[in-house]
Amino acid sequence: MLSFLDLKAINEQYREELIDAATRVIDSGWYIQGTELKAFESEFSTYCGTKHCIGVANGLDALTLTLRAWKELGKLKAGDEVIVPANTYIASILAITENSLVPVMVEPSERTYNLCQSNIAEAITEKTRAILAVHLYGQLAPMPQIMALAEYHGLLVLEDSAQAHGAQIQGRKAGSWGDASGFSFYPGKNLGALGDAGAITTNDDLLAKTLRALGNYGSHEKYHNLYQGMNSRLDEIQAAMLRVKLRHLDTENQHRREIASLYREKITNNYVRLPQTEDEHSHVWHLFILRSEHRAKLQEHLTNSGVQTLIHYPIPPHRQPAYKELSALKLPLTQQIHDEVISIPISPTMTIAEANRVCETVNAFEPSV
Ligand SMILES: *Cc1c(COP(=O)(O)O)cnc(C)c1O
Repeated sequence: MLSFLDLKAINEQYREELIDAATRVIDSGWYIQGTELKAFESEFSTYCGTKHCIGVANGLDALTLTLRAWKELGKLKAGDEVIVPANTYIASILAITENSLVPVMVEPSERTYNLCQSNIAEAITEKTRAILAVHLYGQLAPMPQIMALAEYHGLLVLEDSAQAHGAQIQGRKAGSWGDASGFSFYPGKNLGALGDAGAITTNDDLLAKTLRALGNYGSHEKYHNLYQGMNSRLDEIQAAMLRVKLRHLDTENQHRREIASLYREKITNNYVRLPQTEDEHSHVWHLFILRSEHRAKLQEHLTNSGVQTLIHYPIPPHRQPAYKELSALKLPLTQQIHDEVISIPISPTMTIAEANRVCETVNAFEPSV
């Protein structure tokens, strides 16, 4: 079976470097808020092109804490509306509702599965205060247009960059467009730790300072608590792992691009629709998504032929039992996307021969048999 994503093989490539980094931390005797975190924060903010990077425990916390910080700073208040794509992973929505903000779910672009300017513009009301721009599947949302719209209406922009480390438009990377950006380093992401980790990037000094306090019990100074904060920190071991992985991110993203371009050239089956992108650099192919009206049969065919697939995602957030209050929303495109998408293998360790085999297997699919 060709596995969807072989994490063991991915980390095996850097075995010696990872062991050296872990050993350095073990031998240091210092495991939280130390030199590895400081170095990673500096390296990642340089990579993204931002002034600050604040390490936190995971991607959900990165988004939740940023919205919370804007509340503490008086930029948001309970009941304010946040525009978000309806087809996102549920974490984006959880960050909004956890802060008693109101998610305004908008349909994505049929072409890119990301937010588009016209759908955002239609959803803006007098209560709208922010846009949560998700870079779904590894492709940047149309940030130049989103930032122009936000500026015109005086809205905050938070990027959800959990799937898009290194993606860029006009030479500017994910994480450097919005007022702030949340990243996840969950092991399966393009930049993955060997456990949970996350970060926020921003150019805003006051926001950065507030975030550092909120993630550390609400404290700027030990035993002095300005906010009712939480404990959300990126530990030294994970920071050390991420420093190793960051050095290889661009190479890994380039390999993903090669596989994606091979797929887009060689998959020719009329029963499947291929993903689209305007600009090669705007996509880092966290996932390679096919769409088919015959998804169940296609998945069965691929499984039977030894190709593992996953569905990202089978149920949209507004159809989850957790969000009964959103269940009456009519979002036909979002529903259709969730009914039709299927993710085929793409990874930094996949060979061209394996990718060719996936193409042949997809091309051999016939829904009637
Ligand atoms: C993975 C992911 C998150 C959450 O990150 P965690 O580190 O798992 O908490 C948020 N948003 C999107 C779009 C994601 O893919």
